[in-house]
Amino acid sequence: MTGHHPVLTLVRGDITEQHVDAVVNAANSSLLGGGGVDGAIHRRGGPEILAECRRLRASHYGRGLPTGQAVATTAGRLAARWVIHTVGPVHSPGDDRAHLLASCYRESLRVADELGAGTVAFPAISTGVYGWPMDDAARVAVETVRDTATAVAEIRFVLFDERAYEAFAARVR
Ligand code: ADP
Repeated sequence: MTGHHPVLTLVRGDITEQHVDAVVNAANSSLLGGGGVDGAIHRRGGPEILAECRRLRASHYGRGLPTGQAVATTAGRLAARWVIHTVGPVHSPGDDRAHLLASCYRESLRVADELGAGTVAFPAISTGVYGWPMDDAARVAVETVRDTATAVAEIRFVLFDERAYEAFAARVR
């Protein structure tokens, strides 16, 4: 831990194209693939990633990766060295799961520190099929990474569309 704060950067684009040490995957607890970010990472990164996910299921994560936790694999053919898989909570209007969304960012940074990753790219976790409202997801994401002690030098939020970009920009400014 350096005691320095990471630089937060925002990019509108595709997380699979980022030249960073680690890209974070908005996975599901099966670790065996899905749509959205997960589908794009496995498509572009190739079968090595899924093979390592299957090994994780066969060893440490027999019941899957719990919501809010994170685990790393190879990044296969991606430009990154590692994929850090984390499972976001499904948004629920009647149940405040923000602590689980915050945990995804915190645990991913903890894994990044274990790996020695200097640059980490995050998608807007839980804002796709898991239904989290973008503005609130941006608030949780930015507040959490700002409050987390880490040796990571750059945290890059990679936002897929203009609406997501603007929501994050409003929090980073
Ligand atoms: P979740 O299941 O956690 O909701 P999704 O992958 O469905 O995860 O969506 C998370 C966010 O990532 C959404 O805002 C979606 O628009 C965005 N997204 C989808 N594909 C990509 C990609 N290739 N790069 C970056 N963001 C993406």
